[in-house]
Amino acid sequence: MIPALMPTYNRADLAFSHGQGAWLFTERGERYLDFGAGIATSSLGHNHPGLVAAIAGQAARVMHVSNLYRVPEAERLAERLVAASFADSVFFCNSGAEANEGLVKLMRRAMAETGQPERYRVICCEGAFHGRTLAMLAATGNAKYLAGFGPAVDGFDQVPFNNLNALRAAITPRTAGILVEPVQGEGGIRVATPEFLRGVRAAADEFGLLLGFDEVQCGMGRTGKVFAHEWAGVTPDVLSAAKGIAGGFPMGAILATEAVARHLTPGSHGTTFGGNPLAAAAANAVLDVLLAPGFLDQVAARGQRLGALLAPIVAEFPDLFTGLRGKGLMLGLACAVPAGVMQAELRAHGLLVVAAAEDVLRFIPPLIVTEADLAAAAGMVRAASESLRVRHARPLPVSA
Ligand SMILES: *Cc1c(COP(=O)(O)O)cnc(C)c1O
Repeated sequence: MIPALMPTYNRADLAFSHGQGAWLFTERGERYLDFGAGIATSSLGHNHPGLVAAIAGQAARVMHVSNLYRVPEAERLAERLVAASFADSVFFCNSGAEANEGLVKLMRRAMAETGQPERYRVICCEGAFHGRTLAMLAATGNAKYLAGFGPAVDGFDQVPFNNLNALRAAITPRTAGILVEPVQGEGGIRVATPEFLRGVRAAADEFGLLLGFDEVQCGMGRTGKVFAHEWAGVTPDVLSAAKGIAGGFPMGAILATEAVARHLTPGSHGTTFGGNPLAAAAANAVLDVLLAPGFLDQVAARGQRLGALLAPIVAEFPDLFTGLRGKGLMLGLACAVPAGVMQAELRAHGLLVVAAAEDVLRFIPPLIVTEADLAAAAGMVRAASESLRVRHARPLPVSA
């Protein structure tokens, strides 16, 4: 019989009753070190006092009024995001897919409003992940995700990631824009080279296209900058954020320059819940931490430290691991065994990570992770590697 909760996920048989910092606890009293952070979302970890107080306080005042009225908490949040980024204006919604939908609508609308309605197509990268709505499935372009859902929504072209020549060759008179993740998350923690991002910016300028960055996973401090594209020294015209933006409270955002944002006039786009007082209060509490002096430098340093702790283990177990890559607190451990096998072994040793494509395990801990947490995680990776090596006297299953 089908479970009451629709079975769209292969869930681990774990139910957490509470958390503290980077740790999660089950009813049975087991504790797990959470280096998945709800898929790079619980950016302040669990039970963060500032976030809890902001949500509880706002819930007691007013949670939701709709966008038919001013929302001071959202106005303040937007002003802070504008001050901290390339953007001049922000639209709030409720998820990453919804942010990307709005981003693509904005690109198309900007072209139509400037007399180029034939420009509606968006160039995306292979290995990308942009969400699960019908249009974002087409943007993602992954045959596995598209299967069974009818004809893919028209308007998206895929090119190999980090290949500027291929991207330039895909530009046609129908192209409106380019959508790139500066660090691919689901695709296996693949970092766009600074040269690629700069080349994409130059191509967009040369052909009069709009450049969009999907920073749903790599943004909001994850790499040690507010947004990952800052490392390459280029800016987009429009950007999507979500996941970590409100520390686990559902929220998405579209950030845009004035030249683009002005094309979404009243009535052209909307959302009932987006940017409501409760979500905005949560996101403001996240920004209080993220923008505090030194915090992002600490994220970068913790990322370096985690890399330095894991690198020797990767070198020591070449039968288990093939490499380590990423940026800041967004690291991918490439496995020589099926990622699910290693993930289960890590879980048995008390460490939660998230699998990605290409047999990569994502280490995406809360941004408030401590040095002690990093050391504990490395210890668990070593112990899991040793036990996996011992238990499989026979050759390990080789990755497909
Ligand atoms: C998770 C993710 C999305 C989709 O976000 P949802 O909130 O699940 O809709 C889009 N883009 C990227 C890069 C993501 O990691």
